[in-house]
This record gives sequence, C-alpha cells and structure tokens, in this order.
Amino acid sequence: MKAVVYCDPLSVAVQDVPAPQGDGVLLNVEACGICGTDLTIFKGAHPRSKPPLILGHEFVARIAEDREGFAKGDRVVCFPLISCGTCETCRSGQPHICEVLRLYGIDEPGGMAEQVRIPAADLIRIGDHIPAAVAAQAEPLAVCVHAARRARVKPTDAVAIIGAGPIGTTLAAFLRQEGVSSVKLFDTNATRIDRLKEGGFDAKLVSPAAYKQALAEIGRSGFDVIFECAGAEQAVTDALEHVRVGGRVAIVSIHKGALPVDLQRIAFREIELIGTRVYTRADFEDAVAMMGRMTESLSWIAGDAYGLTDAPDMLRDLANGAGPLKAIVGV
Ligand SMILES: [Zn+2]
Ligand SMILES: [Zn+2]
Repeated sequence: MKAVVYCDPLSVAVQDVPAPQGDGVLLNVEACGICGTDLTIFKGAHPRSKPPLILGHEFVARIAEDREGFAKGDRVVCFPLISCGTCETCRSGQPHICEVLRLYGIDEPGGMAEQVRIPAADLIRIGDHIPAAVAAQAEPLAVCVHAARRARVKPTDAVAIIGAGPIGTTLAAFLRQEGVSSVKLFDTNATRIDRLKEGGFDAKLVSPAAYKQALAEIGRSGFDVIFECAGAEQAVTDALEHVRVGGRVAIVSIHKGALPVDLQRIAFREIELIGTRVYTRADFEDAVAMMGRMTESLSWIAGDAYGLTDAPDMLRDLANGAGPLKAIVGV
C-alpha cells in the first residue's frame, strides 16, 4: 500500500510499504489532515518522532473488516492519544496529559496511508453525511473544544485569538458556532488576513494600533479571554498586554521552550495563564457530534482537496509558510 513516510529530517516520501499487520481494526483511510505537528516532525524538530514513520494523526476511515463490534464499511475517526494508564496523571483521571503521552502518527504509524490498524477502543463513529475533508478535522476541532473549555469562555466574553493558523481559525469558527458574540483574530500574515475577512471572520493584521482599534470597537479596555495560537514570544507578550484585569490567557500553541513573561503584570492584574494540551475523550466526542453544524466553516478552512501523492510537496510548502490554511489529503 502507499503511505506518506517521514524518512529523515526534511525528507518525506510516498512509499510502497507492506499492509499493516497485527492487532487493531484494519481501516481504509479516506482523508487525513496535515497538522503543525507534522511540520515539526518533517523539520526533524519533534522530540519523539523517529524515522521511518508513517505520518498522520487526523484521519477519517472506513472499517475494512468485520471486527470487534465494527462492520465493514462503518465510518470512523481515530482518537489518536495513547496514554499509559498507569502514571499518576492517568490514574487521577486525566489520561490526555499522561506523563508519557504518545500518539498515532507521531510515535506509532499513522493514517496518512491507504490503510492503518487502530485498536477498536480508539475509534469513534462518524456519520456518512459529513464530507471527508470535514471529518478529517475532528482532531483539530477537539483541540479547540478543549481550549475553549479550559478558558471557560462564555457567550458574552470579548475574545481575541492571536495566531490565525488552522487552529486559531477553527477556534474562531467554533466560538462563533457556540454563540460567542465577539471573536477577533490577529495574525502577522497580511494575505491570510485578507482571506479570513473574505471568509467572514473579524481579522486584523497584528500591530499595537490594531489591538487598540479592536478594543475601541467593543468599548473595552482589555479582552476577557485571549487564546495564544501563534507559538511566538511576541504573541504571548501581546496577550498579557491586551487581556483585561482579571482576564484569562490560554496557551494553545506548542512552544519549543521557555519564554520570558511579565510575572509582575500577571500577579498585579490577577491574569490567569492557562495551559492547554490536546483534548479529553469527551472533548473529542463532542467535536465529532458537532461536525454536522460546523460543515460549512470547516469546508471553507480545508479549501481544495489534495491527493496522497501531493503530501510531500504540501509539507514542504507549509514548512516554508506557503500552501493552504489547512491541508487535507484524500486517500
Ligand atoms: Zn493535529
Ligand atoms: Zn499515563
């Protein structure tokens, strides 16, 4: 079968590999998303991923064999977290922040391939009516559901999202769907801002004046909640600067190391700095349940469809800051 294999830093290829053997339910993959984490792996900067590795942790598939309660043709998405079940965090009921958390497509073979085997317990049913490019976004949507819950967003909150990549944009779409009336996106990429405006988002090019203007528009001195989805030091600084006294800043992006933050500001203004990592099983199931209502916005975010053989070029483009907002490859 064909699979997108991470071979070496900056080297990914579509290869013919043996069909997956062993435990788990055999799946015929329909579509798989390319995520920021895949780009980190591609650059050789992921601390755990080791070549050769079949990429892909965001996929929708059809069951290929009657097995363990599933029938051939059933449609599923993969819950990609592999928790140890025995560490203190797992035992405390928070397996999503397992101390040795692993994922399909990062630590184990993933779904950017014609077929993959996944244990039945990690499969979640999804309706036939959801377009494949939308269903493949269950995982990033779950990230957004989790982040919104961690930040305790209410419909009346004035929300800012710094970093309008796939996660920031999906988060904005999700909050809009949830009835949050004021959601403003900020990004450093002018082309992206123009596209987001065309897509109906309230988006602004990052600058001190842009934050000021955004707050003037809503008549506030600071945002109630700011999501940092950019992964950049300036974004963290901006978030702490423009959140209101007593507000919340959620770190959704994956930072590669320590950054200086203004602790005096955090303490004196009683700002809550909130960590978020992936999603719980409940967040993921809720994301799957709301895909029908999110179809229009998630289709817009996915844009054009690509094939499996396009994946290496797509990874290179995205790593160079080009390519679509969210790349989904059809299999
Ligand atoms: Zn992802
Ligand atoms: Zn654990």
